[in-house]
Amino acid sequence: MDLGIKGKRALVCASSKGLGRGCAEQLAAAGVNLVMNARGAEALEETAQAIRDEYGVDVVTVAADITSEEGRARVLEAAGDVDILVTNAGGPPPGLWSDWGREDFLAALDSNMLTPIALMTAIMPKMIDKGWGRVVNITSQSVKAPIPQLGLSNAARTGLTGYVAGTSRQVAPFGVVVNNILPGIHATDRAIQLDGGVSQKEGISMEEAKARRAATIPARRYGTRQEFGATCAFLCSEHAGFIVGQNILCDGGGTNATI
Ligand code: NAP
Repeated sequence: MDLGIKGKRALVCASSKGLGRGCAEQLAAAGVNLVMNARGAEALEETAQAIRDEYGVDVVTVAADITSEEGRARVLEAAGDVDILVTNAGGPPPGLWSDWGREDFLAALDSNMLTPIALMTAIMPKMIDKGWGRVVNITSQSVKAPIPQLGLSNAARTGLTGYVAGTSRQVAPFGVVVNNILPGIHATDRAIQLDGGVSQKEGISMEEAKARRAATIPARRYGTRQEFGATCAFLCSEHAGFIVGQNILCDGGGTNATI
């Protein structure tokens, strides 16, 4: 399917690896030029070059912490008036409700709620001026069904979801379409980190931890960055203009809910 976005420009945050990388790759496959970001310059440049080589699109890289004001300012300057924004950042650490104090919550809110809001606030006015824009926020299945050990993530991402629910309807009249994708378990470094935590806590091997988690997913496997990225590219396409303010689960059926 022609996604109808060849030649457009996208900012994909936190995209040297994992789900962000999957989104960057699938947008590039649709002919979209990219501004890519991550903190580590080496992996970022390596991924950017792989995308240039494979898809022939322009890729600008900005090594920066997207959750810091200084880093975000540099990314926004490089992004200019992009047509597509994909927000993403690392997820907060797991733990028990009694582990976390005010500083932990502020850090989680900064990363997974206030950073995407700041990015949308900076970029959407230019999309509104052009009468066209697409925003996809990478959140988590935890906004539909809580993951008890990810209390920081549950809290911050639910806040972002509430913001998007209202804001997406305020910008839709101007051709700007905002949606969230809710990943379930995907085969990325983040999944390895979470499996490592389970393996340590339960005294089992990494393979066993992974097999146990995969067994909880109806699809009986972890998702891939390619299939996640393809969902993102579709939501950024010409065809998705009537999908507004939605929360699209990509979780292999892991969230046991009717709607
Ligand atoms: P990942 O494989 O660990 O990749 C994270 C990417 O983001 C890397 O490119 C990393 O590069 C970059 N990054 C992290 N923090 C950053 C920051 N502050 N500024 C700029 N770049 C940053 O993670 P993932 O699995 O793709 O997860 C992406 C998001 O989805 C996370 O918020 C995660 O919690 C959420 N999620 C993931 C899953 C899953 O199963 N994978 C499930 C639900 C939710 P640098 O480290 O070099 O900055």
